[in-house]
Amino acid sequence: MKIMQNRMDRGFQRYQKEYEEKALEVLRSGWYILGKELEAFEKEFADYTGAEYCAGVACGLDALWIAFRVLGIGPGDEVIVQGNTYIASVMGISINGAVPVMVEPDEYYNLDASKIEEKITERTRAILAVHLYGQASQMDQICRIAQKYHLKIVEDCAQSHGACYGGKMTGTFGDAGCFSFYPSKNLGAFGDAGAIVTNDPDIARKVKIFRNYGSEKRYHNKVAGANSRLDEIQAGLLRVKLRHLEELTREKEEICREYLSGISNPAILLPKVRAGATAVWHQFVIRCKERDRLQAYLKDCQIDSIIHYPIPPHLSEAYQYLGLKKGSLPITEQYADEVLSLPLYNGMTPEECRYVIDCVNHFR
Ligand SMILES: *Cc1c(COP(=O)(O)O)cnc(C)c1O
Repeated sequence: MKIMQNRMDRGFQRYQKEYEEKALEVLRSGWYILGKELEAFEKEFADYTGAEYCAGVACGLDALWIAFRVLGIGPGDEVIVQGNTYIASVMGISINGAVPVMVEPDEYYNLDASKIEEKITERTRAILAVHLYGQASQMDQICRIAQKYHLKIVEDCAQSHGACYGGKMTGTFGDAGCFSFYPSKNLGAFGDAGAIVTNDPDIARKVKIFRNYGSEKRYHNKVAGANSRLDEIQAGLLRVKLRHLEELTREKEEICREYLSGISNPAILLPKVRAGATAVWHQFVIRCKERDRLQAYLKDCQIDSIIHYPIPPHLSEAYQYLGLKKGSLPITEQYADEVLSLPLYNGMTPEECRYVIDCVNHFR
């Protein structure tokens, strides 16, 4: 049985008629940028997360750097972020000229809150909490530290649509919650898209101005902004998918429950969910000391897997200027050497799931 690590065709086919009708409706409307679909999506997504406001932008990376920009974080400022994130989190900070300060992750692959305070200096302005792989970070501790040191909180929710901590949705704890709707994300569009949610009307207004060349009124530019708009077709298609998100999330949860109860191999460490947190399972990430051999073995079984992520940002060529050598973040580096994401997608059949479990269990 050939199994892809991720596939989006089955998720599309399930609601194909609704997507096609919406795409045609927008095409025929004659209005393609900053219109009623985006406005409706912003309202519906804000309602979904429990935030007061939502502003659509062109992608998740834009959501991150624009959030830091409107918060006034730039050159001379430091932002705390976990070492083991996708590099876009770090770029959201560095694009603004601010310095990313990496902290080691905890056993749930999120920012280790107990290691934040030792990295705080007089230049620290914010904490970026990445809810990696779909599990909410330890937000009570992170909020407590932010309050104590008067730091902003930005959340990278690119992988955590719908995940909660203490019953509250990720993206609503801090000053800005940044979402990506890249096609493979839990709430994925059919192209690039992103959004910022916030409870602060001033931040929401600033983002909406910034994303449109810094203008609220056409040709009256308040700031040197960007072109970062979520287009009408993507907004419309996201509205369709948002209606089904709960069901899509439940389905992924079910597959992961099968994995968690079915996989039993002393060479493999399964993911855990923190008490008080929920996971929406963007990825199902296992660990193995002989990860590369496991991946090759699975490939022989015709099972694709992906490493999220093989090179931690501080060891990438892009961030050599930070001067963080190999060995400076041992836990982050260990995870990069050991993690492997098993196949997981909407529309995965019980037979496919069973086959993955059997193969993983037979790895010696
Ligand atoms: C996908 C992702 C991003 C970037 O989103 P894009 O829409 O691809 O720009 C940022 N952070 C994390 C954690 C991501 O997974």
